[in-house]
Amino acid sequence: MKNNIKTIDGKLLMGPGPTNIDRRIKSALSKEPLSHLDPDFFSILDNISSSLRSVFQTNNKVTFAVSGTGSSGMEMAMTNLIEEDDEVLILKNGEFGSRMENLAHRLKARVSTMSAKWGESFEQSLVIEKIKSMPNLKLVAVVQAETSTGVLQEIDLIGKHLKNTDAIFLVDAVTSLTGVSLKVDEWGIDSCFSGSQKCLSVPPGLAPITFNEKALLKIKNRKSPNSSWYFDLKMLINYWGEERVYHHTAPVNMLFALNEGLSICLQEGLEKRFERHKSNSKYFLALLDQAGLKPFVNQKKFKDLPMLKSVIIPEGIKDIELRSKMLINHDIEIGGGLGPTKGYIWRFGIMGFNSKKEFIDELFKKLTLYIN
Ligand code: PLP
Repeated sequence: MKNNIKTIDGKLLMGPGPTNIDRRIKSALSKEPLSHLDPDFFSILDNISSSLRSVFQTNNKVTFAVSGTGSSGMEMAMTNLIEEDDEVLILKNGEFGSRMENLAHRLKARVSTMSAKWGESFEQSLVIEKIKSMPNLKLVAVVQAETSTGVLQEIDLIGKHLKNTDAIFLVDAVTSLTGVSLKVDEWGIDSCFSGSQKCLSVPPGLAPITFNEKALLKIKNRKSPNSSWYFDLKMLINYWGEERVYHHTAPVNMLFALNEGLSICLQEGLEKRFERHKSNSKYFLALLDQAGLKPFVNQKKFKDLPMLKSVIIPEGIKDIELRSKMLINHDIEIGGGLGPTKGYIWRFGIMGFNSKKEFIDELFKKLTLYIN
């Protein structure tokens, strides 16, 4: 390998996910498969649900992993929780908020949005004011960690306000789960989804998700069935629940891997994991400063993500040329900008397994060959 990290076999993935993976995940992936209807496999499913409750910080019975990437978590949550003509509010300050807006339109909801510039987050009090002005509101959706910009959205007060209303609070925690504090029950989050390939450091392909009783009641009282068969929670719940009725062939080896990834997380401890992400984020920013580079998120006004650092591409450096050199010459992947930030920022992932000083050192050692 052309990078100096001896503990990984391949390329060093310092982009917005997937991350590199622990040896324990590799051995879980290469195990002999079990049938998705084998009682031994059901014990693994039970264990996954229980570990997911711990990382989501919830007691929600309906907590499981959708077969599919993070986007399947979004589809699972929104196709079940939104009906035609429902009034919904989507917070939009980057690519992933816009995707939820797009899906809400496809579901024929009456969609309102609040927008902030890419790289900025929302003042919670202003969101609550907007919610108060919408008495028929059925759902509010927000991204906790906007991976396209690197900004953190505070959500606790919005959730606590929505607890006393009929509206559902939906949170995209694809990048945030196990990298930054997320208290589903305490913060009044009714449904929340994530992805396996970010801070959990399991390959892409599963979307952890949780629904509370308020969300389940909304789904139970739907006037029309979910137009998606694959994502119909009313059916899938009979596989992940006690009945164990076949719905689709669960991706068994990916679930072995997720089980292992969750066990690694819980062995480390959530608080320690948050602390590790935080301290490596500080370390990254110190090296960034030494390299004469500037973060994209204005940290005086907004909180940046500890697991995803967005950086302004310095003048005179060609985005794709530099990323290609990092990949071809050093086997190091870094991410480019999306949408309006394409060619203007890079996105560096220091998530889960990859949140390590050694990896950050290697990244800057190679990056500075080209920028100074
Ligand atoms: N939401 C956020 C915040 C993301 O960062 C991503 C992917 O990067 C997604 C949703 C979509 O996840 P996936 O690409 O795994 O389908």
